[in-house]
Amino acid sequence: MKQQKEITGHAVRAMYQYTGAADVAAATNDQGYMNAMTTVWEDVVFRNMYLTGGIGSSGHNEGFTEDFDLPNESAYCETCASVGMVFWNQRMNTLTGESKYIDVLERSLYNGALDGISLSGDRFFYGNPLSSAGNYGRSEWFGTACCPSNIARLVASLGDYIYGRSEQGIWVNLFVASNTTFTIGKNTVPLQLETNYPWEGNVKITVNPAKKVAYALHVRIPGWSENVPAPGKLYQFTDTRDEKVNILLNGKPVTYRQEKGYAVIDRTWQKGDVVEVKLPMDVRQVTARTDVKADQDRVALQRGPLVYCVEGADNEGRAYNILVPNKATFTTKSHQVLDEPVIAIKANLSIVEAATDGLSVQIKPKLITAIPYYTWANRGKSPMQVWLPSRIKEVKIAE
Ligand SMILES: [Zn+2]
Repeated sequence: MKQQKEITGHAVRAMYQYTGAADVAAATNDQGYMNAMTTVWEDVVFRNMYLTGGIGSSGHNEGFTEDFDLPNESAYCETCASVGMVFWNQRMNTLTGESKYIDVLERSLYNGALDGISLSGDRFFYGNPLSSAGNYGRSEWFGTACCPSNIARLVASLGDYIYGRSEQGIWVNLFVASNTTFTIGKNTVPLQLETNYPWEGNVKITVNPAKKVAYALHVRIPGWSENVPAPGKLYQFTDTRDEKVNILLNGKPVTYRQEKGYAVIDRTWQKGDVVEVKLPMDVRQVTARTDVKADQDRVALQRGPLVYCVEGADNEGRAYNILVPNKATFTTKSHQVLDEPVIAIKANLSIVEAATDGLSVQIKPKLITAIPYYTWANRGKSPMQVWLPSRIKEVKIAE
């Protein structure tokens, strides 16, 4: 395994193997394992990961094929493989202190993994494709029932992924509303995190040590907030935004150093100190590098850590007739998917349809609703697309 350079074989077992290898590397300080894992991680994330953080494109071997082979409708993307990405990336973050691993963890968690469980909590996906003609639905159970229990244990263990700690520091990795207590030296430091993330970008962290205590608070600056949708160049935003993450300490801008992807505020803390983080939550268009044939001349939508999709249920039953024009505009709106309150994206796009004489096609503007990918397939079977075409390449005449 120390000689391995590329990801091959069964995606879920690979994730478990690397999770174990990371633990061995941590226990033994073996640089050989670390080098191999870094190389393989780059092979996964730079060349073989879906925008949803899912991996393992082929159902044939439940695993990896060639680099950049990331078909959407036939994407296997087993729920367990996304769960495994969360396990492995957490270990890599703990080993290195690098936030890029949490960037990937967050992508897999909120998208590829969460999609594996229905909003009702009792229907499951084994595979998580990025498009569907409308014939794919969730199941109550599977003959090989790894995914339901795996996603259930992941959701139940969410608390394990929010923070990190050392003797001198606290790391805020995920922005999940929570209360916890850290031990720094002989001091206990209660910490409260309040937020409505991922729907809003404001995060409020209150620390309440009984007496003054010095430590470094590390707040993750998500890659997506700095124009990097995923480490490596597999995906890019179509434009660059200048709006930066804004951090306040007790209501005032604070100087911090940036280290390994974290904003580090190193000071003596006292009861009631409040750190506010404001993350830019613009709707971003994403493209894939040209090697990914399945995504050419297509764009996907992302807001915060969430990948969006267009589902027929919100768009008069259709998701395959949509075209994203060059100057598309996007707004957000509160929306419900069943009883799940979400922020939907409203997009001024185009639809392609037959003219009334049936002898030509016409392009019409249409307001399209996009929902977070994890919420699709909860309202019956309906077509869905994550990657929307930005140009017409082929027109099929329906039978
Ligand atoms: Zn599974």
